[in-house]
Amino acid sequence: MATTESSSDAGSIDASDIEDAAPNSRTVRALTEVMTVLDSIGRARNADDLFLVNSGSGSEYLIDARTGSCECNWKQYNPDEECKHQKRVAFATGERPIPQWMNDDALDDQFGMHVDGEPRQAVADGGVTAPATDPFAVHSEDEPRTKRAKQEDIDVSFLAKPGRYEVHSASDSRYEVDVLEETCSCPDVAERCKHLRRVDIEINAERVPRPDGKLPDA
Ligand SMILES: [Zn+2]
Ligand SMILES: [Zn+2]
Repeated sequence: MATTESSSDAGSIDASDIEDAAPNSRTVRALTEVMTVLDSIGRARNADDLFLVNSGSGSEYLIDARTGSCECNWKQYNPDEECKHQKRVAFATGERPIPQWMNDDALDDQFGMHVDGEPRQAVADGGVTAPATDPFAVHSEDEPRTKRAKQEDIDVSFLAKPGRYEVHSASDSRYEVDVLEETCSCPDVAERCKHLRRVDIEINAERVPRPDGKLPDA
């Protein structure tokens, strides 16, 4: 009764897949801004695909996850792209995993509290924690590789593809890290080498661009 849409004219599915590979700032805002996602009250009652998003400014928007619609102004001008409210619904319900480069501390506290689904964290190894003050502070519970990632003289710079960074180590070696693929070109066969950890730390500390960088749309 609640939904009558039967065609798929929203056409936003492919766009969201692309944005998963190259997160943009709407993704970051969807994760960090104060929003509350509600799935079983008011206009969203009795409809699995309908969600209400209350923004920090007090506005309420109805999102239809199936047809890809949202009532916000931005969406009206960008009908083929996902607005931050739609992204937030996808993250809050667990339909889309939260990117591993996203610092837990930066997530909005309201995350996933009012929806049935559980937000999912893309798997890191728990080795990287980003303290609010000094991102390079070493903690006793840090794994050895995380300690080295923090302590060694490693330069990180952004390369020209989504999520790719160049690492220049103290021993004057250069490696390429891809944080989206979670790979590094160094010989360390560990699941997550110190270079990958260092890049994560630098991203969380905002010392280097996020994986989306300032790149043109791929
Ligand atoms: Zn919206
Ligand atoms: Zn490495």
